[in-house]
Amino acid sequence: MTDYVITPPSRPSLRVHDSTQRFPIRRVFCVGRNYEAHIRELGNDTRELPVFFMKPADAVFDPAQIMPFPKATDDLHHEVELVVALGQGGSHLSPDEALKTVWGASVGIDLTRRDVQAVAKSKGLPWDMAKGFDDSAPIAQLVKLQDVKSLTNGSIWLNVNGDVRQSGDLAEMIWPVADCIAHLSNLVELAAGDLIMTGTPAGVSQLKPGDVVTAGVDGLPSLTLRVAT
Ligand code: MN
Repeated sequence: MTDYVITPPSRPSLRVHDSTQRFPIRRVFCVGRNYEAHIRELGNDTRELPVFFMKPADAVFDPAQIMPFPKATDDLHHEVELVVALGQGGSHLSPDEALKTVWGASVGIDLTRRDVQAVAKSKGLPWDMAKGFDDSAPIAQLVKLQDVKSLTNGSIWLNVNGDVRQSGDLAEMIWPVADCIAHLSNLVELAAGDLIMTGTPAGVSQLKPGDVVTAGVDGLPSLTLRVAT
């Protein structure tokens, strides 16, 4: 056994639907600008390619707990997203090969410090502190691919305190899941345990302390997130 100088950090993982087993998380990749109406609502150019960014694996948050309100923001935004989890990896995958790497899917929220992101964007600086903060990726239980209804169409929605904020369809993705994975595999060697958050439809808005968020994708267990008061 390796003799470490400090206690090794624990491995972040996701609950698996209808199972006592968990899915170990390696990395969290995110796709930006993947639904046209959301690109427009943030004033971005729809002709630009979607962008990839990352969150630390331990930013993944189990929504069974109450989420502390994040520090360093006055403009916390929700972005509901379909999340896919890879059971195997690869490089330079075709879209068909890319789909074969998917182990399962879930619903997640790409929490964003929009004020921090606005400053970063205006200065051409990295987005890390706008996107990759503590607990910035609440993700529901993971469902095995064979039990997932569809990765390519079906409603995707998010409510805050019962009011509809986001309502779209997976079919609106500019880059479908297979294309996202294939493109990403040209940039990095993907591996088992990687998660990919596949972008958000229009309707992103602010969250406040005490808000109760419900979110879902057709055919997957929905997510409830309680923000601490
Ligand atoms: Mn996002």
